[in-house]
Amino acid sequence: MFRKIEHLGIAVENIEKSLAVYESLIGETSYKTEIVETEFVKTAFIRVGESKIELLEATDSTSPIAKFLEKKGKGFHHVAFEVDDIEQEILRLQKLGFELIHQSPKSGADNKLIAFLHPKSTEGLLVEICQEK
Ligand code: ZN
Repeated sequence: MFRKIEHLGIAVENIEKSLAVYESLIGETSYKTEIVETEFVKTAFIRVGESKIELLEATDSTSPIAKFLEKKGKGFHHVAFEVDDIEQEILRLQKLGFELIHQSPKSGADNKLIAFLHPKSTEGLLVEICQEK
């Protein structure tokens, strides 16, 4: 079951610079900065009520974020939905014909198990599903 919008992912070129903008916009300071080695990204999170904003900076030119920035420039990148049981949701979505980038949950930022859906099967929106570890 989808619970809520856990966070919105924003691709940025420089996390320190963008954090300053988002912190002053939202009026909150970031509670966490974390490097996810397997995804070649540096992330920072800011709470907004029950949801969060996740800023993503590429740590390497092979990073999916580097490729995204090249193609589309900085800005909105993905929406993440919190789910009860990520394994069950992956199976449910596969059965419905959604194309998953990750066929099984992987370790993501902020203590989460995550999986991404291909935007081809979601009307152009990059969707992440996540579950607290
Ligand atoms: Zn995310």
